[in-house]
Amino acid sequence: MSGGKKRIVIAGGGTAGWIAAAALSQQMGELLDITLVESEDIGTVGVGEATIPPMRTFHRLVGINEQEFVKATNATFKLGIQFENWKQVGEKYFHSFGVTGKQTIVTDFIHFWLRGRELGFARDFGDYCLEFKAALKERFSLNNQAKLNYAFHLDAGRYARFLRARAESCGVKRVEGKIAQANQNTDSGYLTSLVLESGRELAGDLFIDCTGMKGLLIEQTLKTGFEEWGHWLPCDTAIAVQTEAVAPPLPYTKSVAHSAGWRWQIPLQNRVGNGIVFSSRHMSEGEAKDKLLSSIEGKTLTEPNVIRFKTGRRKKSWNKNCIAMGLASGFLEPLESTSIHMIMTAVTRLIQLFPHDEIKQSVVDEYNSQAESEYERIRDFIILHYKATERDDSDFWRYCRDMDVPEDLKHRINLFRDFGRSNQVEGELFRLDSWTQVMLGQGVVPSSYHPMVELMSEAALKSLLASIAEKVDKDIAGLENHADFVKRYCGSM
Ligand code: FAD
Repeated sequence: MSGGKKRIVIAGGGTAGWIAAAALSQQMGELLDITLVESEDIGTVGVGEATIPPMRTFHRLVGINEQEFVKATNATFKLGIQFENWKQVGEKYFHSFGVTGKQTIVTDFIHFWLRGRELGFARDFGDYCLEFKAALKERFSLNNQAKLNYAFHLDAGRYARFLRARAESCGVKRVEGKIAQANQNTDSGYLTSLVLESGRELAGDLFIDCTGMKGLLIEQTLKTGFEEWGHWLPCDTAIAVQTEAVAPPLPYTKSVAHSAGWRWQIPLQNRVGNGIVFSSRHMSEGEAKDKLLSSIEGKTLTEPNVIRFKTGRRKKSWNKNCIAMGLASGFLEPLESTSIHMIMTAVTRLIQLFPHDEIKQSVVDEYNSQAESEYERIRDFIILHYKATERDDSDFWRYCRDMDVPEDLKHRINLFRDFGRSNQVEGELFRLDSWTQVMLGQGVVPSSYHPMVELMSEAALKSLLASIAEKVDKDIAGLENHADFVKRYCGSM
């Protein structure tokens, strides 16, 4: 790299490009000269509207005012995801963002609950979780008495524009145009500049590839390679459509499984994002489109948008002087709303490992190893939803039920079934509570509980469980109707 300010060129201005631009300019702006190039003719993928709670930490890092953000992006609050028809047709469960019961050092809450259930006095598992009950009762608040762990449903296009305004105010230069070619140093293979169709050349020291699934720099230029995971996650196509809202927005995402995949419903303030995800080996595009259109409520606002995808990750997220973020770095289906989060961790990781004078291989290796492990852990959590099914009503579900899964996941399922333990690995995104809720929801039930819970008398256990559930009920009473809260929150700026 040259002395003075490092020249960063961000290729692509979708959610990934603008998140990268906003974070780098906010955190390191004085050290960097950042240019972002995007093409209105090409456009963005136009989806990506459900998020998870760590987004709030990222927003604090970048200095985003939450109220301004909610208003600007037509956002609503999200307390979790309701899964319908995943374990069995007609059954539902909830993956909430909250803690269920109480954290104990020795053994997990689920063991107390299992014993209580055996003794006949434990309520449903979700009754011990504030976020779960608040979601189903459509309640929300930001008061400090009942602190909820939450995320957002947002308008992706508005979010990119919101971030763009922030990034530009921190000095990021935006260039409109189509990248025609990337130049490389003939010896090192490092990227040296991007040439636009207009002939304009953008030289840089570090290039961030946010050009979407094709990975213009990381793949088409640097031929990094792609590790495919379609054998574990067979869905490969989505169709998205927006509709008018016909009911007040729910504070949770809906994921409804069908015979060859699932469909989503994401409620915003003014409209609903809907989509269907399916395996093209098991369902035709026409059938999927009919299924989607017959399941939606409200007038359609957009034409159905068909998106084909390949599940997997780029073999290296960082190759030479190019770092891929967003869809350019890989794709995991949006079942647990993890992609935007992974863009945020990618740019945070880059800031933490930012190259000083020159790019050192140890730093690149560290970045790639962290990215790889993040991808694989999230991948395994998503596979769990498919593998642990009792559905037997279609070739798709029989395939999922019978498929071989990664060793780590096999171990986790066995450990939970044999011992009631959800093993959380250090630094892992999904916590013990998430693994436990999805395992139970999908029908993986521990065969026994930890013997230590028997040291507690029946009366003490009964009183403990009752006190947790009562506290949840009391906290719920202090919350507001979610739709009323959003209206008031956005109106009070
Ligand atoms: P894109 O939006 O594709 O942006 C690519 C950018 O590169 C555009 O600005 C384009 O103009 C530019 N570009 C490309 N080629 C050129 C060129 N030659 N010259 C100049 N510019 C160029 N994530 C979530 O977190 N939650 C969700 O609920 C969720 N749902 C999803 C549903 C589906 C069906 C899919 C496919 C993805 C979903 N995602 C979700 C993922 C999320 O949409 C993406 O992670 C996010 O939008 C980032 O996309 P991107 O910026 O990487 O790519």
